[in-house]
Amino acid sequence: MRPRLATVWLDGCSGCHMSLLDMDERLLDVATRYELVYSPLIDAKEFPDNVDVTLVEGAVSTEADLAKIRKIRGRTRTLVSLGDCAVTGNIPALRNLLPPGEALAVYDHPPRSEVPALRHVQPVHQVVPVELHLPGCPPSADAIHEVLIALLEGRAPDVRGARFGN
Ligand code: SF4
Repeated sequence: MRPRLATVWLDGCSGCHMSLLDMDERLLDVATRYELVYSPLIDAKEFPDNVDVTLVEGAVSTEADLAKIRKIRGRTRTLVSLGDCAVTGNIPALRNLLPPGEALAVYDHPPRSEVPALRHVQPVHQVVPVELHLPGCPPSADAIHEVLIALLEGRAPDVRGARFGN
């Protein structure tokens, strides 16, 4: 049985998922070696149980993000913070530096009062345990592929050079 793979998108720009797609023909290799069970790339409505690897793009910025990542953590064996927003908070966390009203005016225009924002944007590992951090804005396709294959092979990924581009 193939390991079950998920990808999720919290407060990010989708650039990390674009980098994932930039694996090009290696996507076929990944698709044959993993079973993709949840992702913005497929039509799955509910995050499933028993996921082996989940790649998380984006910071935790809203109550909805927080509830989602806690549920995902409870259903995932290996959680990977994918990209600088997940690893450090990055661009979404810039609003932490501003007074609350100004911050939401910059990052939520027009304001969506139905989306309760957390006072402080947080990287993923500050709200749930994370097994692996893959930095980069976005991480390169090579680095994402290396992480996915290394996890399959049970070895530590070599992600040197992951920070700079594709
Ligand atoms: S790390 Fe960069 S590419 Fe990835 S979601 Fe954040 S801003 Fe976008």
